[in-house]
Amino acid sequence: MSYTVNPVFEHYYQPKSVEETVALLAQCGKEARVLAGGTVLINQMRSGAVAPRHVINISRVAGLDEVRVAEEGELAIGALATLAKVARSSAVRKGWPLLHETMLEIGVVQQRNLATVVGNLCRPVPSADTAVALLVLEASVLMSGAKGRRRVTMSDFLAGPRRTMMADSEMVTEVRVPPAPAGAGTAFVKLHAPKVNAAAFLLNSGGGCSEARIALGGVAQTPIRVPKAEALLRGAKLDAQLIDEAGIAAQGETSPASDLRAGAEYRREMSRVLVARALEAAWNRTKRQ
Ligand SMILES: Cc1cc2nc3c(=O)[nH]c(=O)nc-3n(C[C@H](O)[C@H](O)[C@H](O)COP(=O)(O)OP(=O)(O)OC[C@H]3O[C@@H](n4cnc5c(N)ncnc54)[C@H](O)[C@@H]3O)c2cc1C
Repeated sequence: MSYTVNPVFEHYYQPKSVEETVALLAQCGKEARVLAGGTVLINQMRSGAVAPRHVINISRVAGLDEVRVAEEGELAIGALATLAKVARSSAVRKGWPLLHETMLEIGVVQQRNLATVVGNLCRPVPSADTAVALLVLEASVLMSGAKGRRRVTMSDFLAGPRRTMMADSEMVTEVRVPPAPAGAGTAFVKLHAPKVNAAAFLLNSGGGCSEARIALGGVAQTPIRVPKAEALLRGAKLDAQLIDEAGIAAQGETSPASDLRAGAEYRREMSRVLVARALEAAWNRTKRQ
């Protein structure tokens, strides 16, 4: 890979509002890129993987860096909220501990101070950590564009390998995460090399599992939910055998690729192990409340 020291682009903008950003995106079209923390985009530009003519730095857009509890108890994560800010938030630690746990598994502290949650979602690698956690939390993504605003579910947002369903003329403004009901337990586990990760959300109602959500990363073209494994757990009493069976079912729902870092079989096997670990930890946490 050859690196140029300074990425080459023709125009650099620093809009101060979402409206101004959206107008610029409409004007510049496919040849523009939004710049947030830059941990992905700058590297891509330096390597020549992308070469936008227009760079739109949104760091001066007021209000986008907030992490707050919004209407109906939802957590709102603004487009400029860094991984570190989300990890530090007392609301997140208390109400959405899965996000706190996930943020601390991403990169190193210098990178977490720059990188945003939304940037992680907008170029979703198959193992994008935040996407895996947000899938089990059934989060939504809010976008603004020339045609107005819209809200889509996390699973609809992830359209394909490193792709979202967002139009070129749109930007993400916020991620919304519903509040967890009493009796919920969550866990995020990750293998760093090769990157394979799993998140679990379980609801304990009187000792039985009334809701189960499992997501996996690094074992398909995008982060995925594994509905067959989830269905095994809903309405059941969880024990070690059922957790193992769910891990095997989840493994069967993956379609990993082989590359220089690991073969597909190894990734598949790791998905079984990680799902079982995440389920065990999440179930134990449902009992601590
Ligand atoms: C050393 C290092 C370690 C890393 N480790 C991990 C890891 O362990 N796990 C992991 O999942 N990732 C990891 N990453 C990837 C990266 O840090 C994240 O994906 C990061 O969260 C991206 O956020 P950013 O603000 O830097 O995005 P940027 O680089 O600014 O943007 C990324 C992409 O999203 C688009 N974009 C950003 N914001 C918006 C918006 N509001 N609307 C529309 N488009 C937008 C940009 O145009 C660009 O295409 C690592 C990266 C580095 C450099």
